[in-house]
Amino acid sequence: MTNDTPQLYIVATPIGNRDDFSVRAIEILKNVDIIACEDSRTSANLLEKYGITTKLYSYHKFNEKQRTGEFEKLLKEGKKIALISDAGTPCISDPGRVLVNELFGDVRITSIPGACAVITFLSMIPRKTEEFAFAGFLPRVKNQQAKVFEKFINIDTVFYESPNRLLETLENIKEFRGENTEIAVGRELTKMFEEVKAGSVTEIIDYYKTHPLKGEIVCMVYASENTGDEDFVMIEKIKKLKASNFSDKDISIILNSLYGFNKNKVYKLSIGL
Ligand code: SAM
Repeated sequence: MTNDTPQLYIVATPIGNRDDFSVRAIEILKNVDIIACEDSRTSANLLEKYGITTKLYSYHKFNEKQRTGEFEKLLKEGKKIALISDAGTPCISDPGRVLVNELFGDVRITSIPGACAVITFLSMIPRKTEEFAFAGFLPRVKNQQAKVFEKFINIDTVFYESPNRLLETLENIKEFRGENTEIAVGRELTKMFEEVKAGSVTEIIDYYKTHPLKGEIVCMVYASENTGDEDFVMIEKIKKLKASNFSDKDISIILNSLYGFNKNKVYKLSIGL
């Protein structure tokens, strides 16, 4: 790439506290030709506070494809474009993926890092490992949620959830993973009513039955192997396979290859059921 290579900036904006906006982000947004944003009304408030008067173009999930072609043309004409979303880092459960996928390699893409709810949350909750999976927004259908929790059974998994659905999702986790499954919930991070709770899924459900459950939420379900709930999960899965007449040996092989469960442990649990 040369100095003439078209330039696209991916710029993070605050997730609540408006002061979490980097000096570099503000400078770039002031100096580009176009800011692509999800909702111009939401962004206009923030940009006005920082004296950013750059022209706004809408870029959201319903016009991503069409806009990508238009932005590619403008970039190749020498215009500088910055992409922002309503809050946090674009492309992280937010529009931008189509633009980056299409233009990567043809255009210089620079990310201006800043707030991101997943990362903010991960930095403030207890963890036993560095590993984590990010599931974005969970599917709404219960058996599809079950598939996500099965897939990520052995890794701490963060996901975004709406306050209206959180209790239902926690009930599903309790059913799929057991009542002692460890959970952490981050609500309204960086805002006035910021709250972070950690405990068993049962404790968290009880807490939110009697406390306000409003605002924006990010949630972690800890890996079963890190919480001692692995036995519960194994037993549930063994019972299902037994009901389909699989032998103890086959069950140990299947659960080892699907979830990495220890074969001998599964076998011993299976013959005891
Ligand atoms: N791109 C954003 C980021 O970098 O975090 C996420 C965008 S996604 C459309 C919005 C979701 O992120 C919210 O529904 C909520 O689940 C989570 N979220 C955003 N801000 C948050 C905050 N201040 N506290 C907790 N969760 C937040």
